[in-house]
Amino acid sequence: MPKSEKRVKITLECTECKERNYITTKSKVNDRERLEMKKYCATDRRSTIHKETR
Ligand SMILES: [Zn+2]
Repeated sequence: MPKSEKRVKITLECTECKERNYITTKSKVNDRERLEMKKYCATDRRSTIHKETR
């Protein structure tokens, strides 16, 4: 992986219970928008929308 690639750590927060379930990285260049993805939440025991948080 080239060193010049700018990747930032982001936390994915469940929109239902506000639990921070996932930590991932994203490219600053390609993803300027807030990340949003459907992921399984152990607290809600189902898949919910998880949003990027700081
Ligand atoms: Zn949840």
